[in-house]
Amino acid sequence: MLRGEQLVSQQTDYMCPLCMNSFPSGIENGLLTEEDVPQKSLGGQRITLTCKKCNNTCGTKIDIHLLEAIKGIEQRAFLPGTNRNVSVNHEGKRLNAFLEVADINNLLLNVNTRRNDPKIWEDYRAHILLENTIINVQDAPLRRNSRRISAALLKNAYLILFARTGYTFLADVYYNNLRRQIMDPEPFILPERLWTFQNVSVPDGIYLTRDNRCRGFFVVYSLCLQNIYRVCVLIPTPSVGYLQACYELQKIKSGTHIHVCRLPENLDFLCDSDAIHHLRRWCYGWNLDF
Ligand SMILES: [Zn+2]
Repeated sequence: MLRGEQLVSQQTDYMCPLCMNSFPSGIENGLLTEEDVPQKSLGGQRITLTCKKCNNTCGTKIDIHLLEAIKGIEQRAFLPGTNRNVSVNHEGKRLNAFLEVADINNLLLNVNTRRNDPKIWEDYRAHILLENTIINVQDAPLRRNSRRISAALLKNAYLILFARTGYTFLADVYYNNLRRQIMDPEPFILPERLWTFQNVSVPDGIYLTRDNRCRGFFVVYSLCLQNIYRVCVLIPTPSVGYLQACYELQKIKSGTHIHVCRLPENLDFLCDSDAIHHLRRWCYGWNLDF
């Protein structure tokens, strides 16, 4: 059972955590979809439900940018076993090809003749792609808009937190701007930025900050393509301004020791009313102990 479905079972309608619109519960009618967090292409798992429209919009608007950003990092590293679309350019003639990093010493250029003008391919084959010839190979452009990447990183953390805590506190109007920023990444609704790729030494999970200046949740998760990339996102409590949270997060440098406390794994913040009240008290108070 998905976490979101537990929430559904208690009420007739389900509120999409991204647009906050209500839908009849269940996925049978096609209005709600199981959401992979992070996206499936980066190793995510289905942990919650979102409405079909939000799921599709995020997929095409922001998730693709995060995937291509990670692809770009790996392309620069020429990791063995990876491949990518490239173009070869010579005197105004362009050949589309596929570059495969076979191993540390060998790159293979695969040409799909059906993707190219037969005359250009013949010219390349006979006169250009000759032994010991230097050719100009360019990676196909990737879609990597930094605002959209940022929104995708934020969305993953928000949904991980939602899957665990439901609307215990995330329905607060304070988070409307965070939701707007996810769905509308270009304008600066929130200050940059609430995430870091700094190496974090704790396992993936949700951690409570032990510092009231940045009181909130550190959501730590991994993106997996060829390599694994750790992400840490700070989602502040409603008592902390976003600008202050960003400022405090930026002050944490690599190697800085910070105190965190893992959100207790044994408590059910979706169904157990005592746990829910306890979490709400922590969210809206200043006591650092949980
Ligand atoms: Zn929605």
